[in-house]
Amino acid sequence: MQIIANPGIKKTMKIAPDKSFKIAIASGKGGTGKTLVATNLFYVLKKNIDNVALVDCDAEAPNVMGFYNNYKFNSDYDITLKAPVIMKEKCNFCGKCKEYCSFNAIFLIHETIQVVYDLCHGCGACFFACKYGAIKEKHLKLGKVSHYSNGKESSIIESRLKIGVLSSVPVIKASINESDKNQICILDSPPGTSCPFIQTIEKADYVVLVAEPTPFGLSDLKQSVETLKTMNKKYGVIINREGIGNFDIYDYLKFENINILMQIPFSKKIASCYSKGDILVDFMPELQNDFLSMFNTIIN
Ligand code: SF4
Ligand code: SF4
Repeated sequence: MQIIANPGIKKTMKIAPDKSFKIAIASGKGGTGKTLVATNLFYVLKKNIDNVALVDCDAEAPNVMGFYNNYKFNSDYDITLKAPVIMKEKCNFCGKCKEYCSFNAIFLIHETIQVVYDLCHGCGACFFACKYGAIKEKHLKLGKVSHYSNGKESSIIESRLKIGVLSSVPVIKASINESDKNQICILDSPPGTSCPFIQTIEKADYVVLVAEPTPFGLSDLKQSVETLKTMNKKYGVIINREGIGNFDIYDYLKFENINILMQIPFSKKIASCYSKGDILVDFMPELQNDFLSMFNTIIN
């Protein structure tokens, strides 16, 4: 596949036609501008590529659709977990199911037995362990994955965790799998470096870390970088709110030989756009070429 870049971008971009190329937009903490970058990159790319998807992987607080209310709802489906229900009248309290459960999700003391559903991963080991037919299954709803589109092939996929459910990982995983048919996928990652972040970037071909040039921003960036190193991921950094804080982050990036992909200035206009749910490049078209240029760098 070849994309003809906008005027001002001299390079052409080549992507293997048979592969879904996934770019995760991530950061060590919330509020650094991940969604700002993800929504604008998607906006710029879909002008150039038919088959591009934006996946909102922040299942605990999805907000991408706040920027794309012109996209229409297409479909959704529930993400469920196959969990055990112990029938006490058939149970002889032998403890085999508890022994097989690697997640400590079965509580057994004397003749009291209970499944702790917040810990259950739906692995099915306890079903296999019980030889007395004392376990039946039930489907627990964890959340849902929704599809939105603008009538063309570009689409937005939203993961949303059910209130009260502890882990967003299965919902995120399902939403990313849904994007496999798109040639380019932008994954708006959950903040932090815990399991939801790992689940999101695990399938990414490239990770864009968004960081602020402040001591707090640098501290979180270091954690993200160390995590990505252990996962052997390719990555680069966007400095958001350039102009606040200090220069320590630049020293760190230079020392670590990490590419600065783009800088977004600290500006009231940008903050105002974002807070209204507007797409920034509509109001600052000069940033369009910066996003395309960054994409060009990533895929080359
Ligand atoms: S393995 Fe079956 S019979 Fe044994 S404690 Fe578990 S549910 Fe009860
Ligand atoms: S399904 Fe797996 S995780 Fe859940 S209770 Fe059974 S053994 Fe434990």
